[in-house]
Amino acid sequence: MARTFAPATHPADERRRLAVLRGFQLLDSPREELFDAFARLAAQLCGVPAGAIGLVDDRREWFKASTGLPECGEVARDVSFAACALTSADVLEVADAAADARFAGNPLVRDEPRVRFFAAAPLVTGTGDALGALVVMDVGPNRLDDGRRASLAAIARVIVNQFEARRALFRLLDSSRTELYHIDLDAECFVFASEAAQRNAGFAPAEWERLAVATFLPQLGGEGRLRERLARLRGDAGEDVVLRTLAHRKNGTTYPIELRFELRQTREHTIALAFGKDLTESEAARERIELLSAAIEAAQDAIIISAPGARASDPSRIVYVNEAFLREKGATFEEVTGKPTDMFFGPKTDRTKLALMREVLMRGEESRIEYVTYRKDGSPYYVEIAARPLVGPDGRTTHFVLVQRDVTDSVMRGMVLELQNERLTTLTSIARGLFASLEPRALVDALLAGVRELTGGSGRLLAVCAAGDFISTADLATPPGAPALEDGFLGAALHSDVTLVDGTSRRAAVRISGPSDTAAFVLDVEAGAEPFATADVFAIGLLAQYLAVAVRNVEVYGELAARRSAVIELNQVKNDLIAMLAHDFKGPLTTIVGFADVLAEDERFDAESRQYLGMISSSALRLASLATDTLALSRLEQNELRLQLARVDLAALLRDVVRVFSVTRGIELRVPGEALVVTGDESRLRQVFENLIGNAIKYSPGGEPVHVTLLGKPGGVEITIRDRGIGIPAGDLGKLFGRFARASNARERGISGTGFGLYLARTIVDMHGGRIAVESSEGAGSTFRVFVPETPAPQRVRSRRVLLLDADGDARSYVAHTLRDEGYAVEVVTDEAEMVRALRASAYDAAVVDIDRLAQDPAAFVRDAGGAAALVRLGSGTADGAPWDAHVAKPFLIKDLKAAVEAAVARHAASGDSSSAASSAAGSA
Ligand code: ADP
Repeated sequence: MARTFAPATHPADERRRLAVLRGFQLLDSPREELFDAFARLAAQLCGVPAGAIGLVDDRREWFKASTGLPECGEVARDVSFAACALTSADVLEVADAAADARFAGNPLVRDEPRVRFFAAAPLVTGTGDALGALVVMDVGPNRLDDGRRASLAAIARVIVNQFEARRALFRLLDSSRTELYHIDLDAECFVFASEAAQRNAGFAPAEWERLAVATFLPQLGGEGRLRERLARLRGDAGEDVVLRTLAHRKNGTTYPIELRFELRQTREHTIALAFGKDLTESEAARERIELLSAAIEAAQDAIIISAPGARASDPSRIVYVNEAFLREKGATFEEVTGKPTDMFFGPKTDRTKLALMREVLMRGEESRIEYVTYRKDGSPYYVEIAARPLVGPDGRTTHFVLVQRDVTDSVMRGMVLELQNERLTTLTSIARGLFASLEPRALVDALLAGVRELTGGSGRLLAVCAAGDFISTADLATPPGAPALEDGFLGAALHSDVTLVDGTSRRAAVRISGPSDTAAFVLDVEAGAEPFATADVFAIGLLAQYLAVAVRNVEVYGELAARRSAVIELNQVKNDLIAMLAHDFKGPLTTIVGFADVLAEDERFDAESRQYLGMISSSALRLASLATDTLALSRLEQNELRLQLARVDLAALLRDVVRVFSVTRGIELRVPGEALVVTGDESRLRQVFENLIGNAIKYSPGGEPVHVTLLGKPGGVEITIRDRGIGIPAGDLGKLFGRFARASNARERGISGTGFGLYLARTIVDMHGGRIAVESSEGAGSTFRVFVPETPAPQRVRSRRVLLLDADGDARSYVAHTLRDEGYAVEVVTDEAEMVRALRASAYDAAVVDIDRLAQDPAAFVRDAGGAAALVRLGSGTADGAPWDAHVAKPFLIKDLKAAVEAAVARHAASGDSSSAASSAAGSA
């Protein structure tokens, strides 16, 4: 009979089956009595000599257990009976393999052990995967009855249940990262390692088998040491042994491991079951904790961990503090742990701030604050706290971690700096006040106020008398008849170069050099509530120096003012004199011109004599016009030049002027036929044209003709005076309309003149609201163009009316003089009641008040003046809060004064109340 043989076909999803099988971690595991017993039981139940539990791997059948068979761990899958049972739903039974075509050729059948009968119950898991089979075998043909078949199937199920229970255990171990090892203690080698162990150590499953303990756990294994050691440690009661050692991975790295050993004795071997736990993480964690606590203890900053109270009002309790904290507080660990944190609070502790910090921390956010805390001995100090919350898994803040640093030093430094800064600012403003005070009394007041403000003390200023005693002074002068006092301390201060302080630091005195470098004053200061600190003494010295400078200022200012008044007075006298002379000149001149003209007509004189008479007449005329100009100038200077407005026919006026000049020079006059009438001051306009035509003749020394043209223009009349004379150098053109300005070429040629004709002309044209301009090129002649409006704009006719409060009175007032120079009509009053009366009685554009002359409270004065005019405050120091329209500080620049008056007028007009009164008064001016 041909001995044929056909290997079993693979199940449908072989890959999955194999994966499941491996998951049971059974392959190559050590032999276990339990499963051997199952194999024996099955064989006995079936009445056959041999049985085995075979697990079908990829290429082999591996025996978990066997009985009645020669010792062999596995057979090739090709010859495996169990492999044939994998796809069978029930027990696969072969009564006589030698007679079965499928198995006759199988080496197990053909050769030893010459199997003839076998029955295989597949080991099917709960998920339907067949792992292998429980096989019973006989060397002769056989047959199972139904009962035996059922028993065989039942045992197979029990075995699978065992497998599954074991797998659940492995999973549990794996998930707890527990490693499981079986160690053969006799051979001192591993027989099994669970998946977790395999993964961690990096040895393949096959490598574990017979892996020497000395290789994986060198500290434990080698020459039977492990066995001895375990036996020794185990004790009589046989309890488990726990050892810590270092495990060596395949890749050469190591990890700390804790092993719990259980000993099992099988028939042949002593087996140790070891549960291992990789300690890497817990060791690291422990190490970290150790390091951290060492760091916390070593930290310079105090660290507190506290637990918040249940309610916001409950104090948090101290859970932990470090060494630095205890040092800082001067307390022991026992004294503070478990205590409320407010045990270190005191009266200066800002509890609101802390409550706010608690709120922030409870929200899970960080916070940083500075506050005052107290030591155990009750002394306060400043700390800066950086606080973090510890948040539990439910998101609630469980603890506060506070890092606290003593910042007392820097806080104090900051405070001192702030104080110094404040003092400096004060000092600066006091100095400004001192330098701005130009009146002695104001100066002394400012000084004493400064002393009070800076040092909190009260001071007095003493003038030094010739006899070496002192008299208290309020205005730098020595009041006559005042009691002189002798004082040793002041005497000593007088001879000291530095500020002198008495033994109690409650009195300080310092010399103040007078104008002539001799000691003139002593500043004597009595301390306030606190004795003087160094900074106070320094401040007093500084104030003394400031005062010395300010006294000098006052002196210089006084001198200047005196000189100025003298100049102003002189000027006034000059003006009066000129006005009088010019006026008195005109009468006799008119007589001369009149008689010369009469005589020139007389037939009795020959031609030559008549020519002389003509010359007399024209010279006298020139003299008369000079007198007119001079008078006008003098009026202008005194702000008394006023226009007498009337209807003026410019065509007629020009014809008349030209007629007079035609005697000396050919003048071509072009005037339109109709009258060209404007509103203006006829005699002033005549003065303008006489000047311009006179100049055209004078500066055309070659006798060239002069052209005068009149032209009606929209809104007024334009007069052009053109000559072909010497012209004007380009560089001089811009300044010709200024007072006493003359062009260089006129002077070089020796053409006589005063330089105020054009100035007057411009002023008069301006007052009419007109324009005057010149075009010229040197050597080719000049053209002057005048535009006179039909009606002059009212504000141009008059100057602004300014009322001034100045104790110097009109004649000596520098302010009045300056304002007049700037073209204002100025009236001066010397007391405020008079000023208020004048402001109510008449319309002024502005009132300028020298604040040093104001006895009343500024606010009250401004209220009284009641918007009658724009109010300008003129004075030292800063503004006083009263609603002035403008302010100008003394000493002032002319342009500042003018700007202040103009700004005030503009502001006052904008505020709109009584500006109408001032403009309606314009017509009468
Ligand atoms: P003055 O008395 O010197 O003529 P004015 O004020 O009338 O004074 O004129 C100022 C200066 O302008 C003159 O000195 C002269 O240099 C220049 N000037 C005025 N008019 C003429 C002109 N028509 N041609 C050239 N220069 C002139």
